[in-house]
Amino acid sequence: MEKFEHKLNEYAKLTIEVGINLQKDQPLVISAPVEGVEFVRLLAKYAYEAGANDVFINWSDDTLTKLKYENAPFEVFEDFPKWKQDTMIYYAEKGAGFISIHSDDPELLKDIDPKKIAVANKASGIGMKEFRKYTMNDINSWCVISIPTKKWASRVFKDVDEETAVEMLWDAIFKATRMDLDNPVEAWKEHVKSLEDRSTFLNEKEFKTLHFTSSNGTDLVIDLPEGHIWQGGASKNIKGIQFVANMPTEEVFTLPHKNGVNGVVYSTKPLNYGGNLIDDFKVEFKEGKVVNFEAKVGHEILKDLLDIDDGAKYLGEVALVPYSSPISQANIVFLNTLFDENASCHLAFGRAYPTSIKNGEKMSDDELSKLGVNNSLTHEDFMIGSEDLSIIGETKDGEKIQIFKDGEWAI
Ligand code: ZN
Ligand code: ZN
Repeated sequence: MEKFEHKLNEYAKLTIEVGINLQKDQPLVISAPVEGVEFVRLLAKYAYEAGANDVFINWSDDTLTKLKYENAPFEVFEDFPKWKQDTMIYYAEKGAGFISIHSDDPELLKDIDPKKIAVANKASGIGMKEFRKYTMNDINSWCVISIPTKKWASRVFKDVDEETAVEMLWDAIFKATRMDLDNPVEAWKEHVKSLEDRSTFLNEKEFKTLHFTSSNGTDLVIDLPEGHIWQGGASKNIKGIQFVANMPTEEVFTLPHKNGVNGVVYSTKPLNYGGNLIDDFKVEFKEGKVVNFEAKVGHEILKDLLDIDDGAKYLGEVALVPYSSPISQANIVFLNTLFDENASCHLAFGRAYPTSIKNGEKMSDDELSKLGVNNSLTHEDFMIGSEDLSIIGETKDGEKIQIFKDGEWAI
């Protein structure tokens, strides 16, 4: 087999075996762009080899998505077909694993009326709410990966032809997912272990607050709720089967207290939000809520994101990623959150993972809310890591510990 073909097969295997960790007689659902059909066939092949009893593909296509936005009337976007969620819940109830391939053109909807996009995002947020519990609560195994598409690759590597751009993006994805190492499966085991060790340390300290500062102006104090849990590396589904939800993943994360965020934070990488870029922005928080924001690029898009509902104006995630992470080292802005969030410390507007707090997956929305867990239709990461970022944690007893210094782990 040719070298590239070989790697492609290995990447598909890694996704099935380490990402989803597919079990015998388990169904698999793959959400994928039609442009990736060859790779999706490989995923299906290895899934059946691992014992899948059914593989269902949920296809999408950027060109068709854009045509719809250009031509369909406004009302169509307000309506989210119920069968879409029913299909996903049908498989979730059968214990399926869910692979999502995120590869959209970061500028696909640049010229589309932002109001149309906002309405569509809100409708799908509401329409998929019940299904989201299966993944956000780790009831089912899930894994987000990416493969290059021509449009996406050309936005990342602007100065070369499309074919070369796709090759370069494959190369970057292989490096970011440790596929360039001799034994990627072993390398992932070690990597997962090191993220788990950091989480253990942070969990033992039970920090009360984290203070973020950076020379770009960031000065933010984040309170962590009682019983918060740091997670990193692998997760476990309801049956106790380990899976890796994001490949790549470099983060160790938990949730802020919904009402305990104060100060200002500056973005350090562009955010690709559903086919539009938001860049060069700052956000000010008071008692958890966004009270002021300014974006040099995509200000209106950011406004629409924060206006989805009340919870979108509060934070649901704080994640630590060293500035020297392999993805960051590649020095490529991927314009794709899966990669960019794993190259940088980040926060997320919107819903917190219930698994970020003790017994959270068993609690109702009301119970979670009382503990300071934010709820929203959206969950959108944005990047704030910089080369001189400092994070100082303070414990309940007032002990101060430097967690990050000059953008790197200090513990
Ligand atoms: Zn994250
Ligand atoms: Zn996130």
